[in-house]
Amino acid sequence: MKLKTLRLILGDQLNHQHSWFETLDDSVCYVMMEVRQETDYVVHHIQKMVAFFSAMRSFSSWLSDRGHASIYLTLDKPENSQSLTENLSRLIKDKGFTRFEYMYPDEYRVQQQLESFCEKLEIEYSVVDSEHFLIPQVAIANYFEADKSMVMENFYRKLRRQYSVLMKDDKPLGNKWNYDKENRKKLPKGHTPVKPKLFSKNVSEIVNLLQDMHVKSMGSIDADKFIWPTTRKETLALFNFFLKNCLPDFGTYQDALAQDHWSVYHARISFGLNVKLISPLEIIRKTEQYWEKHQDQVSLAQVEGFIRQILGWREFMRGLYWINMPDYAVKNHFKHTRKLPEFFWSGDTDLNCLKQSISQSLEYAYAHHIQRLMVTGNYMLLTETDPDAADNWYLGIYIDALEWVEMPNTRGMSQFADGGLVATKPYISSANYINKMGDYCKHCRFDPKQRVGDDACPFNSLYWRFLDKHQEKFRKIMRMRYSYIPWDKFSDQQRKQILEHANNYLAALK
Ligand code: FAD
Ligand code: SF4
Repeated sequence: MKLKTLRLILGDQLNHQHSWFETLDDSVCYVMMEVRQETDYVVHHIQKMVAFFSAMRSFSSWLSDRGHASIYLTLDKPENSQSLTENLSRLIKDKGFTRFEYMYPDEYRVQQQLESFCEKLEIEYSVVDSEHFLIPQVAIANYFEADKSMVMENFYRKLRRQYSVLMKDDKPLGNKWNYDKENRKKLPKGHTPVKPKLFSKNVSEIVNLLQDMHVKSMGSIDADKFIWPTTRKETLALFNFFLKNCLPDFGTYQDALAQDHWSVYHARISFGLNVKLISPLEIIRKTEQYWEKHQDQVSLAQVEGFIRQILGWREFMRGLYWINMPDYAVKNHFKHTRKLPEFFWSGDTDLNCLKQSISQSLEYAYAHHIQRLMVTGNYMLLTETDPDAADNWYLGIYIDALEWVEMPNTRGMSQFADGGLVATKPYISSANYINKMGDYCKHCRFDPKQRVGDDACPFNSLYWRFLDKHQEKFRKIMRMRYSYIPWDKFSDQQRKQILEHANNYLAALK
């Protein structure tokens, strides 16, 4: 039969369980493309690009093995015009397709591009759901309202009820919705977390391709031993490893910072999840089932803490992104304009918490949530970094970075640039929090207790400067009022010295 329909699969739409692939239809042809449009819109970590291309290539082989007709354009194919829509136009024309179909993209920029492409098409077209998220694309507006702050906890409870997750008779298991207070401890002295499960694949073909094509990148890679999962089988293996080895301690040490342990008990499942090699509901159900069988090893607090990240935060961030785009991308509540300090590209700084978090990000394309939020994000906010620069850095450096989840986390949660749509208050702290949650300060040349002087930790004076500068607004936020108690107790002279110290630091920052 002649091929009639062209179906596009984007690099983050590798959903083996999508209904598209349930039956073989010999009038349908799938297309996947490696394009400069995607490698160049920001400077990406080399491991991020390799992970995407490797996962796409494996998915394409899976399609062919199952007998689906497909076209795969590698980055170096002479006919590759390097733009998604120009390649589509050429294929439709050359091969005479009479219908075009695509799944809703997760990123606004790609959605806009495909929508305007379709408007000009002279053949029939349609768009379908990616069948990945708990809330279908067209239902987002039933849960979210533009420009309106929402409390994540209320959204989370609604979804738990809707999907009957950790529920019994419309009540949360254990009669508690949230076990946050029992979680979030630093690692005890002498405690060694489980060694992370790493893969070891040869990806030199893709690395050489990117080098030959002069694609700009950051970070390092061991091309003989690539550590990230890029197939569904590997993603499931990593997730099963997490259930057995990390879930029992996940919640307890979720916020711990540790000099010698880059992933503590985190799942490192975000790449596989964001490219849809595994689905959120699959993760949630498997976690529930695992807990039911292993209640002697895993407490409800750990399971609830983990499920909240996926059922709660992940879906919440996506909803806020879509309902507020495109305005969200230019929000800059504090009107911050400073450029990102140079050491963010090298890790070359004597602030140890930043050195560790940035160096590990350059080495692994990964940092866990508290490193992103309370170390790098906190510093960017206190030093008044332009949220565009913050967004570009996070979007480039992390293996899991896709705008729909990166932007509300960065611009919203970490930089408070949305004025409070995502977070009820800015996530800022002095050295006190970083010192409390781990051992970075023990290995640092700065003193986390001092506010002024050569040895004073810069986070301290910067924190007080920020609180002082925005006091008119922040004193009105209930959850921030207590932060001013120590500030109000300082003498005028102390306050003056602290502000002077912070201003000098900022003036010297490059
Ligand atoms: P775990 O801690 O093991 O959590 C399990 C899963 O829960 C994650 O894989 C993720 O899917 C989900 N999750 C946890 N927290 C969040 C959250 N705040 N928002 C959405 N999902 C969450 N996550 C991304 O997937 N892509 C990003 O580009 C991204 N950028 C971020 C930028 C900043 C400034 C901050 C503060 C957070 C960002 N996050 C991002 C959220 C979070 O840090 C990562 O999802 C997490 O670190 C991924 O590692 P993990 O799989 O080991 O997570
Ligand atoms: Fe970071 Fe300050 Fe602690 Fe050093 S003393 S690790 S700069 S918080």
